[in-house]
Amino acid sequence: MRGRGRPGREGPRGRKGGGAGRGALREGLTTALSVRHAVVHFPDGSSERCDLAPSLFREESEFTRPVAAGDRVRVETERGRSRIVEVLPRRGWLSRLRGGKEQVIVANVDQVLVVGSAAWPRFRPRLSDRLIVAAERARFEPVVVINKIDLVEDRAALEERLAVYRGMGYLALATSTTTGEGVDVLRERLRGRITAAAGPSGVGKSSLLNAIDPTLQVKTAPISDRWGKGVHTTVKSTFHPLAGGGWYVDTPGMRSFAVAGLDPADLAVFFRDLAPFVDACRFNSCTHDHEPECAVKTAVVQGKASLDRYRSYLRILRGDKGAPVDGDDEEDEDLDDEAEDSGAGDGGGEDDRASPSGAPSDPRP
Ligand code: GDP
Ligand code: ZN
Repeated sequence: MRGRGRPGREGPRGRKGGGAGRGALREGLTTALSVRHAVVHFPDGSSERCDLAPSLFREESEFTRPVAAGDRVRVETERGRSRIVEVLPRRGWLSRLRGGKEQVIVANVDQVLVVGSAAWPRFRPRLSDRLIVAAERARFEPVVVINKIDLVEDRAALEERLAVYRGMGYLALATSTTTGEGVDVLRERLRGRITAAAGPSGVGKSSLLNAIDPTLQVKTAPISDRWGKGVHTTVKSTFHPLAGGGWYVDTPGMRSFAVAGLDPADLAVFFRDLAPFVDACRFNSCTHDHEPECAVKTAVVQGKASLDRYRSYLRILRGDKGAPVDGDDEEDEDLDDEAEDSGAGDGGGEDDRASPSGAPSDPRP
C-alpha cells in the first residue's frame, strides 16, 4: 500500500456524550498529565485539573494511556469536580513504543520544529531526517531549524542542507539565540500555532523559546552539565503558552520518536523529495534499496535527488528491519557516537538504535 498514514487509526474516542443529564460539557486542550489527572485549558483562558473518567480506560487500547498531551477533550463538571469524559479523535500524534503499546508524546500539533545544532553538538542530518519522517507520518508540518549558527564560520555545508529542505517546501531556518539571527522569522511562524519542538537535548530548544518570548524564562542548561552525568532533561511534553497566542511544546529527546508499524514500501512517501520518483520504479513494492530499475536511485545518481537525503532514507529503512527500538531518554545523551558518518549501510550507528520501528516483533499489522 502506498497510501499515507494509518488506515482506521483515528485515535481513541471516549464514551460518547459523557453521561445523560449531568453537568454541561466543555471542550478543552490537555496540556499536562499526571497518573490520575490532566490539566485542561479552556478557550476562555482558564485551566483546571481534571480527573479521568473510568470509562476512558480500555484494556484493549493500543495506547499506554487514554489521554495524551495535546488531546482535545470534553470535560464534565459536577459538584465542583471536573473530569474528562471523552477524548476527541486525534488529527495526528507523535509516539514511542512502550511494552508493545504506543505512548503518545504529543497529539494534534500544527507543526514540529526539527531542531538541530550547527555545532556543539554537531549537526546530525540523519537525526533531523528521522524527525521529519516522524512529523510527516503524524501529518504535522516540519520546520527545520539549525541553531547555534553563530558557532560556525564556514556555513556552506549547512546552507546546502537548508537549501535541500527549502526545495522540498519546508521552512528551514538558521538561528542563533546569541546573535538573534532567524529568531524573528521563527517567532512569526509560531504565532497562533501549536508547535512541538523536537531534537536532542542541548541543541537550544529552551533557549529558542526564551528568545522568542523572553517573559517565559524557561530553564536552560549548559551541555557540559548534562552530558557528563547523563542528566535527564524533559521526560514529558511541556506546554508553554506563547505571548502572541499558540503553544510551544517541548518534547522528550529524539530517540523517543518511534514510527510504529511502518511498511518499508511506504517509507519513501514520507520523504517529500524522493516520493515523486517512486511511481516510476519497476517494482510496485520497491524499497529503493537493492532493487533493479529503481527510479529513486536513478534520480539520486542523476543528481535530481539529494544523495544525503537518500542516505537518511536507507538508514531508516535498514534500521526498520532490525530490532525494534524502545526510545530511552538516557540514550538521548549519547550524542558523540561517530558511527553516523561511516556510511549508510553499516547498520551499527546511533540512528539505528533510534530508528522508527515497525520491526518484525511489532505485534500490530
Ligand atoms: P535544549 O536542551 O535543546 O533545550 O538546549 P538549551 O536551550 O538548554 O541550550 C543548551 C546550551 O546551548 C545552553 O548552554 C545554551 O546557552 C546554549 N545555546 C543555545 N542556543 C545557542 C545559540 O544559538 N548559540 C550558542 N552559541 N549557544 C546556544
Ligand atoms: Zn525504487
